[in-house]
Amino acid sequence: MAAKDYYATLGVDKKATQDDIKKAFRKLAHKYHPDKGHADESKFKEITEAYAILGNDKKRREYDTYGQAFPGGANAGGAGQGNPFAGFDFSQFQQGFGNGDIEFDLGDMFGGMFGGGRQARTPRGRDISIDLEVPFQDAVFGTTRDVLIGKISTCDTCKGSGAKPNTEITTCTTCNGSGKIHETRNSILGQFSTVRPCVDCEGTGKVPKEKCEACKGHGVRRKENNIHIEVPAGIDNGEMIRLPQQGEAIKTGVAGDLYVKVHVKPHPVFRREGSNLVMDLPVKLTDALLGTTVPVATLEGKTLEVKIPIMKRAEELLRVAGKGIPVSGTHRGDLIIRLEVALPHKLSGKAKKSVEDLKTEGL
Ligand SMILES: [Zn+2]
Ligand SMILES: [Zn+2]
Repeated sequence: MAAKDYYATLGVDKKATQDDIKKAFRKLAHKYHPDKGHADESKFKEITEAYAILGNDKKRREYDTYGQAFPGGANAGGAGQGNPFAGFDFSQFQQGFGNGDIEFDLGDMFGGMFGGGRQARTPRGRDISIDLEVPFQDAVFGTTRDVLIGKISTCDTCKGSGAKPNTEITTCTTCNGSGKIHETRNSILGQFSTVRPCVDCEGTGKVPKEKCEACKGHGVRRKENNIHIEVPAGIDNGEMIRLPQQGEAIKTGVAGDLYVKVHVKPHPVFRREGSNLVMDLPVKLTDALLGTTVPVATLEGKTLEVKIPIMKRAEELLRVAGKGIPVSGTHRGDLIIRLEVALPHKLSGKAKKSVEDLKTEGL
């Protein structure tokens, strides 16, 4: 990432006061706001990023001292890299700026962007990843697996409500049923109305009169789940299968995802090179010289009669089209056979004589 000049972005002097910076930001934010005539989302992101740094005394000092590589800057944090706005919802700006009050938590928002933390606004359960070892054949031709995973899941007893079955669910008195707590506070940009989920009802707006005993009112609990995994044909070692919403459940929001990392066991005969299956085939010296047809067992368990042409050299490969790895619905790679010309361990007297005859032939 090229070093950015945040001062130039906001069009202010290095000696600008916080007031100047604030004014410059507001002016540009009005100009490029997604809702305005000059709407320009990338420009808007640039100025917001610049303001996040220069508008904060501590970050500004760090930036002035270390440039863009300072800790906590735009380069820090995995999720912030490249696009610090990934997952950030610009529609939140819609109701702001126009009438002067802004309905979002600026501090929180910047914390998320530059700390690499907060991404989506809908609460999500945690993602889970598991490892799955599959035999070579199964990876080539596809298979299914059922595995038992212990994970946080929606409570069966209360179906996720957190209430004891057949008891009343009442409106949360803390948030009056909205699930949100509104707070007004002052900040450098003026007065902000911030919203956070209500802790008492976990953002649902409802509280059970009597809590579910199985999950203690959480609506979720740890249990063993049978997970059905479809391993697609042609999957390679180290590839990941994603099962959406099969990760950990959460009371309010969507479940995380389950990632299955596939480990393919090596095969004693075949190996994979891209979409091709490769095997070594030992042939006798005389077969290599005179040519022959040999039976070759394929990965499917069938027998192929493979013709070895006269004086086929070991470094030339035999190719059987369409007997390799499935790469798309109908297409398969090739089976490639590498000949290994085997020399005899010992020669009989008669064989030795024949070889000596070959030698006189200049071979
Ligand atoms: Zn329950
Ligand atoms: Zn509440």
